[in-house]
Amino acid sequence: MYTTEFLDIPHLASAGGSVQLPGSKSISNRVLLLAALSQGTTTVHDLLDSDDTRVMLDALHALGCGVEPRQVVPGAPLRITGLGGKLPAGAAATLFLGNAGTAMRPLTAALAVLGGDFEMTGIARMYERPIGDLVDALRQLGCRIDYLGSTGYPPLKIAPPDFSNFPDVPIQVRGDVSSQFLTSLLMALPLLAQERAITIEVVGELISKPYIHITLELLARFGIRVVNHDWQRFVIPAGSRYQSPGEIHVEADASSASYFIALGAIAAGADGQKGIRIEGVGLDSIQGDIRFVDAARAMGADISGGPNWLQVQRGSWPLKAIDLDCNHIPDAAMTLAVMALYADGTTTLRNIASWRVKETDRIAAMAAEARKLGAQVEEGADFIRITPPADASAWRAASIHTYDDHRIAMCFSLAAFNPAWLPVRIQDPKCVGKTFPDYFETLFTLVQPSAAAPVICIDGPTASGKGTVATLVAQRLGFALLDSGALYRITGLAASRAGIPLEEAQAERIAALIGTLDIVFTPDQRVLLGGEDISLAIRTEEAGMNASRVSAFPAVRQALLQLQRDFRRLPGLVADGRDMGTTIFPDAPLKVFLSASVECRAQRRFKQLIDKGLSANMHDLLADLQARDARDTQRSASPLQPAEDALHWDNSAERTVEQAVQQVLAWWQQRQPFASA
Ligand code: C5P
Repeated sequence: MYTTEFLDIPHLASAGGSVQLPGSKSISNRVLLLAALSQGTTTVHDLLDSDDTRVMLDALHALGCGVEPRQVVPGAPLRITGLGGKLPAGAAATLFLGNAGTAMRPLTAALAVLGGDFEMTGIARMYERPIGDLVDALRQLGCRIDYLGSTGYPPLKIAPPDFSNFPDVPIQVRGDVSSQFLTSLLMALPLLAQERAITIEVVGELISKPYIHITLELLARFGIRVVNHDWQRFVIPAGSRYQSPGEIHVEADASSASYFIALGAIAAGADGQKGIRIEGVGLDSIQGDIRFVDAARAMGADISGGPNWLQVQRGSWPLKAIDLDCNHIPDAAMTLAVMALYADGTTTLRNIASWRVKETDRIAAMAAEARKLGAQVEEGADFIRITPPADASAWRAASIHTYDDHRIAMCFSLAAFNPAWLPVRIQDPKCVGKTFPDYFETLFTLVQPSAAAPVICIDGPTASGKGTVATLVAQRLGFALLDSGALYRITGLAASRAGIPLEEAQAERIAALIGTLDIVFTPDQRVLLGGEDISLAIRTEEAGMNASRVSAFPAVRQALLQLQRDFRRLPGLVADGRDMGTTIFPDAPLKVFLSASVECRAQRRFKQLIDKGLSANMHDLLADLQARDARDTQRSASPLQPAEDALHWDNSAERTVEQAVQQVLAWWQQRQPFASA
């Protein structure tokens, strides 16, 4: 997951390949709660690992459910041992539910029915998301729920219920604000339906019926067969009792699939690949958002599929503008709004009032961000109307504000296919953690940029601080990192270990050895050679000298050339080393040359070595550095020289690392078309 302040997506040209999507959020959190209410242990496969499921798992654990393992482990099932429909006497807890509506609403209903003393809390946005209609419905039964902040909104205080006046008329709930209220009742009230049938009556039009469909399908899997009278009355039969199905598979998220369906519809196909194949969800899905397939087809996407897979490629191009009632696909419809940017006319998405009470006011947010890209947008209480930029010159480079809303971030990444060859900046990219933490990583495995991914080269003499600066710049931008010095150090180490003298006459043997090495740079910055951790072994002064020796051999430099260029990837690369800007990436849009006096560098190296627990001597270090500078500057193969177009920064002792990092980021920002974020 990218945790940077922003993520710059270069302009994208094409896409192709196959993608396995994460589990559905709606199904995941429903399954977790149903398993928790059931008798017995449920083994859950393909559960989504996200912010919303994490808060649910934490809450269930706090309530005394068995959760094993405690967190989602990719590829491994998770076992929930249920409460068997009761909480221990005197149960009490404060539950933090983040911004997860799929946890707040159903847990509130279940706990208000089960009995105990609870506080239901979350982040500030959660306190702006309505829950009053659910509370009103539960109070009709004798549940005791109080507002700790504003009336009608969380945080809430729940006390043990008093069912002495249990009504014998239907329980009423509004259906036109959030279908999660009805879902919550449908999941909580079977706990009270042992002796009597319970009827729930919807007041007003029921929105988002597909989500109720998911609820009913899953309830059936857990032994509760609700009778649906035309989406107006729902009867939970007497004698209902939660029973674990033993095992259950979570379908991939159909709303998440919408971004990849749109990707297939928007992007030109990549060489030799027939569009995008999506695994884990298909035409037999129980999720309403699968109907997005019909809407995307109407806009021109070419889609085929089976029970649990889809295949999408460009059909009509440009896409066709549509006018659609989107009540049945509220979440996926946001993706249509971005497809509309590539359509041949004005697209109207109607009946989407529920957008206004989601993670953010999504109508306002989509309108504001689409306008930044150059689209004309009209918004109403329950519709949005989008006219794409008139032509390529009307598109604008935009820094997309994401409102802590995962879907805004995912949708607008698709604006990187614009006809104006502009990059797109996504602010706060980690908001995708709500449902799809690796969304951008997944996207980057499928797409090709129209020009090679950008590279920032940071060159300079040894111990100039370039490694530290490069690492930090890469972290701030979410870019990959190439520590080219490490490759020479690894080469020197491997050659010495193989007993090859580090002499010019052996250069071809050393170069041949490089092709056989199994080198891995781990995300936590360790270096593995053939599986062995050599991070420390390559950092000794001797290893540095050996690197300097082998790096003077043209055959070795040639053998490392392609290996280094292969580090170039989306969203970009920071490459650290002396010939990055001259030989390896001469086309890099930003080249920086750091310098510092030899004394300052010796002190820096001294501190680095001591910090790593290695022994060091200032006098020897100074002599070594001077010798290495002399060899590196005078040698004929890639002598230490700044690229002609490099920007210089004196990184001497009185300047902090942060100053250098800020300067490089400022130079980078100057090369971007975005107004500052
Ligand atoms: O940067 P570092 O000190 O790890 O580099 C070790 C040695 O590898 C340098 O002294 C230099 O001689 C060599 N090197 C090189 N070209 C690079 C990176 C390092 O010649 N791109």
